[in-house]
Amino acid sequence: MVDNCAIVLAGGRGKRMGTSTPKQYAVIDGYPLIYYSLKAFEDCAFIDGIVLVTLEEDIDYCRKEIVARYGFVKVKKIVPGGRERYDSVYNGLAAADCGGYVFVHDAARPCINPEILQKLYDDVRRYGASVAAVLSKDTVKISDSSAFVLDTPDRGKVWIVQTPQVFTSAEIKAAYDAMMRDGGRPEVTDDASVMERYGGRRVHLCETSYTNIKVTTAEDLLTVSNFLQKNSTN
Ligand code: C5P
Repeated sequence: MVDNCAIVLAGGRGKRMGTSTPKQYAVIDGYPLIYYSLKAFEDCAFIDGIVLVTLEEDIDYCRKEIVARYGFVKVKKIVPGGRERYDSVYNGLAAADCGGYVFVHDAARPCINPEILQKLYDDVRRYGASVAAVLSKDTVKISDSSAFVLDTPDRGKVWIVQTPQVFTSAEIKAAYDAMMRDGGRPEVTDDASVMERYGGRRVHLCETSYTNIKVTTAEDLLTVSNFLQKNSTN
């Protein structure tokens, strides 16, 4: 049994990239996107083990070309993802043999760095459930299904949520189990939502960095390359 662990999610097909290769293998500055998140957790002193979640057909490739090639000794298991992101997290949680905190992280966010991880670790030890987030720079509107404005929330309380999202292993597993017993929830796109709806723990928003972006479309790769260079010079 390891103490704290990371679940790194790379089980998506990245259709919005418009490329035939899933975005997690897009090469940025000489390394595949997925490398950066694994490297951040590999080098993190308070992470003991990593579960990598990939597409079933990519497991062998990841074992040889990512985990062995870059010497990620903390990757204990590589497991297949599922149809939705939450199915992939559920599979990752089932494989995670960890009694402490679980850091759930999207491989599509390669700019994660030691400062963000430390801040989250401090935050989760204080509040019990902590997710990376930044305040919205833009005014946000809530609309009806025809794009007519219903509401304008106070921007000082609107957060853009990122990953890692960190919970105690026992609590997030229990919350996911409860959601799966309920048949799953297609509208759930992050782990905090599962805790909010099915867990007993209030989730704290930990202010991180605007550089911790998610690669969704091809132009994000350029931005990420800039941020990665900034990370490596810090
Ligand atoms: O699709 P989206 O950008 O929200 O995906 C966020 C992360 O979740 C990505 O790293 C992606 O590989 C992962 N994912 C997954 N299994 C899915 C869908 C997405 O592991 N079924």
